[in-house]
Amino acid sequence: VHAPKGGGGDEKILVSVRVRPLNEKELSRNDVSDWECINDDTIIYRNNLSISERSMYPSAYTFDRVFRPDCSTRQVYDEGAKEVALAVVSGINSSIFAYGQTSSGKTYTMCGITEFTVADIYDYIERHKEREFILKFSAMEIYNEAVRDLLSSDTTPLRLLDDPERGTVVERLTEETLRDWDHFRELLSICEAQRQIGETSLNETSSRSHQILRLTIESSAREFLSNDKSSTLAAAVNFIDLAGSERASQTLSAGTRLKEGCHINRSLLTLGTVIRKLSKGRNGHIPFRDSKLTRILQSSLGGNARTAIICTMSPARTHVEQSRNTLLFASCAK
Ligand code: ADP
Ligand code: MG
Repeated sequence: VHAPKGGGGDEKILVSVRVRPLNEKELSRNDVSDWECINDDTIIYRNNLSISERSMYPSAYTFDRVFRPDCSTRQVYDEGAKEVALAVVSGINSSIFAYGQTSSGKTYTMCGITEFTVADIYDYIERHKEREFILKFSAMEIYNEAVRDLLSSDTTPLRLLDDPERGTVVERLTEETLRDWDHFRELLSICEAQRQIGETSLNETSSRSHQILRLTIESSAREFLSNDKSSTLAAAVNFIDLAGSERASQTLSAGTRLKEGCHINRSLLTLGTVIRKLSKGRNGHIPFRDSKLTRILQSSLGGNARTAIICTMSPARTHVEQSRNTLLFASCAK
């Protein structure tokens, strides 16, 4: 009999911050960078704080890892996601999130991380001939609390069902068995196309929707090679490209698009609450059921699951408010 994997379920959330370089638009308006990564785990606000600001905001923020603008996505993967993502091959569910305001680098970062993970999983499979692996891939988008299949041209919202054994299941979600790396690339481009179809009919969907890519791995020992017959493992790793975090703070600010904001942000706000509670230990009620995103991810958050959050931010002075909100979110998660 195998002991439950995952270190007893007390693993902390791995929290890192990635600062992207100033972009063309920011440079052309003579925007400046106000943030400095002073070492591997601390970022400081360099601009002078006024007396009143000084009492409101810290000037230094420390996380598991801070990535400066010249860090590559490879480095972000290696130090901010890999260990958590690859727990899946040992039968541990995991989730990797990208959180940050629109245009801070979430998609740029998640695309790289997803590809590096899948490449490493294929590499692992290659080195473990004593086991047989089955990889399955699915992809969905949550917009206004409606779940859509990104591997299907049918845009009808999918229902969530409660399965007594498997937990929350997305009804009729396409699940493709991966043949090889090229097949994986092909499925990614279908997702991208499906997302763009959504975007032309709904304004700026990508900043308002959450995308979840899910890779499920099942493995079992090949008896003829190994006498370890006991273990059949199954787990999923989820890559979540969240809606722009400005959607969370806007909801709280008076006036602007309040109704729309409330809808759009239910998943993001609930995720924030769930993450905060999980990071404080697992006592008390955790409101997984309050949003579609947290329901879908429940079995990959908390419990014996592993979680990594990469918070992305622009270093620009003009984005200081959003960057502070992002760092605040990251601080609550650690
Ligand atoms: P988001 O998904 O958060 O809205 P994107 O990932 O689309 O943001 O990034 C916005 C733009 O900035 C894209 O053109 C992207 O290529 C670029 N970008 C983001 N992060 C980096 C980075 N670390 N280095 C270089 N370019 C980046
Ligand atoms: Mg994006």
